[in-house]
Amino acid sequence: MKLTVVGCSPAWPNPGGAQSGYLVEDDGRLLLDCGPGVLARLREMEGWPRVDAIVITHFHLDHWGDLVPWTWGAMYGPGRSSNGKPELWLPPGGTETLRGFGARLGFVDMFDNTFAVREYADGEPFATAGLEVTPRRVPHYDLLTFGLRVSNSAHTLAYSGDSAPSEQLVELARGVDVFLCEATLAQQEPDLRGHLTAEEAVEAFEDSGARRLVVIHRPHELPLEETLERAYDGYEIML
Ligand SMILES: [Zn+2]
Repeated sequence: MKLTVVGCSPAWPNPGGAQSGYLVEDDGRLLLDCGPGVLARLREMEGWPRVDAIVITHFHLDHWGDLVPWTWGAMYGPGRSSNGKPELWLPPGGTETLRGFGARLGFVDMFDNTFAVREYADGEPFATAGLEVTPRRVPHYDLLTFGLRVSNSAHTLAYSGDSAPSEQLVELARGVDVFLCEATLAQQEPDLRGHLTAEEAVEAFEDSGARRLVVIHRPHELPLEETLERAYDGYEIML
C-alpha cells in the first residue's frame, strides 16, 4: 500500500502547509483525518477527491475541519457528479457531534447528505476502502481521541494524530511496519498531557517494536534530530 502525506501541520499551519491528512491507497483509497488545507491539496491531485472512506481520529479542528467545505463542494460544486458517498468513520457519538456542528455552520444534515456516516468502537476492527482499520483510544487532554492501525494482507501502519505519552500509544504501534507519530512539543507540558516531545515519540517507537518511525504534526519552528525521519506535505511511503 502507498501512503501519501497530504498535510502534516500541527494545530497551526506550517508555512504553506495543510493540516492533518494522510491518504492510504491499496485496492481502495482511504483518508485518515481531514484538516484544513487537505481538500485543496487533494483537488490538486484530481478535480474532486475520489476516496472510498475517511476516518476521523478526534474533533479538534485541525483533524476534521475540511469536512465542512467538502460538503459544500459535494452539494453545490464539482463533487455533485461523483458516484456515491464516501464512508465517514467517526469516534463514538460523532454522528451527533457533526449534526451539532452542521446546525451552526449550515444545515443539521449537511454531513449526512455528503457522507455515509458510521461510528467505530474502541479496539473493534472494521473493513473500509478494502483495508482493515483498528481504532485504539489514546489520551489527548480530555477529548475522546483515537489512534488508527491500518492493514492490508501484508503490511500495517499506525497513525497517532495526537496523544500524550502512554502505554496505549505504545500498543497502538506494536510491531507495525510504519509508525506515523505526532511530535508537537519542544518540551513536556506541565499538567494535563496531550502531545509528545520528539524524545517521547522515539521512546514510544522503541517500546513498540515498530520498524520505522515517521515524525508528523511537528511545528516548522522546531528542530528535529537529523537521524529522525520527518514528514512533509507530499511525502510518500510505499509499504
Ligand atoms: Zn488534537
